[in-house]
Amino acid sequence: MVAPEPLPPPAVGYPLTAARSRPFILIPCVATNNQAPRGRPQRAGAGQGVFLQQAEIGIIGGSGLYSMPGLTGIHEERVTTPFGDPSDAFILGDLEGRCVAFLARHGRGHRLLPSELNFRANIYALKKLGVTRILSVSAVGSLKEEHKPGDFLIPDQFIDRTFLRVSTFFGEGVVGHVAFGDPVCSTVAGVIVAACATEGVTAKPSGTYVCMEGPQFSTRAESNLYRSWGADVIGMTNLQEAKLAREAEICYATAAMVTDYDCWRQGHDDVTVEQIVAVLHQNAANACRVVKSAVAAMPAERTCACASALQHAILTSPDAIPQATREKLDLLVGKYLDPR
Ligand SMILES: [Zn+2]
Repeated sequence: MVAPEPLPPPAVGYPLTAARSRPFILIPCVATNNQAPRGRPQRAGAGQGVFLQQAEIGIIGGSGLYSMPGLTGIHEERVTTPFGDPSDAFILGDLEGRCVAFLARHGRGHRLLPSELNFRANIYALKKLGVTRILSVSAVGSLKEEHKPGDFLIPDQFIDRTFLRVSTFFGEGVVGHVAFGDPVCSTVAGVIVAACATEGVTAKPSGTYVCMEGPQFSTRAESNLYRSWGADVIGMTNLQEAKLAREAEICYATAAMVTDYDCWRQGHDDVTVEQIVAVLHQNAANACRVVKSAVAAMPAERTCACASALQHAILTSPDAIPQATREKLDLLVGKYLDPR
């Protein structure tokens, strides 16, 4: 009889509080088809700390998607961050043989406005869990006739129309500028596009997403302005996630689910509430199948540039970075400031 392969030792990370004496310990991913990297290398001197279950793929569910059917071995994890609390507890489990962490973007019960979301805490917490890829799902309005309610679109560009949000981990004595010309990970975007095809969901493989502040929808003048810019869809949440995921060196892409035509499309029959609800339900059901399919198809290795996005991004001289900031950002930038 062949002895089972022993599990690798727990990976050890450090919380970004000043308390380096309280490391957290990542319990390695043990999903049935686990291909996840085994977390951060073990560091000497780690004592007793907070145990966290490691995840490989993060799923952020938006309007209509508040849970992830099909998850097995579910474990709820509340993750603390130096930026405050994430939207909710993370639901960790096995999906298609991979370790995933699911977060309801607006909290279970949809309690948080787009402007109230703590995007930094959400992305930081996923980094802390060991996530290297994020699949985001969100509801959007269509700015073009050809993007019909029920269609999915995988944005590859964004226009920022928000004004009440913090969209960076940097500051407090450290300056970083990441490249953002290609704001989503082409690998993850490609996997989502292919998953839509597999599941028979109509999907556009690219397009521009206008991220507005909300919570009100656009005025007609705004909607027509965005159309004149050539934008495809409009939503309220995805751009901050994309920016922060890039700074956290996490691959990110989103499945934008069209629910309506925003307000520009006059002269057509009014849409009933029943029709909107039906589209929301259909989109959520499609999103579950697409996410499952995408998780199953996600390549094990990362060959994109996302994992080294910060390599040349930090302009501040290491000597000039305040110690408190250095410790706060250790999980994100420590390997560049203090190589071990
Ligand atoms: Zn990537």
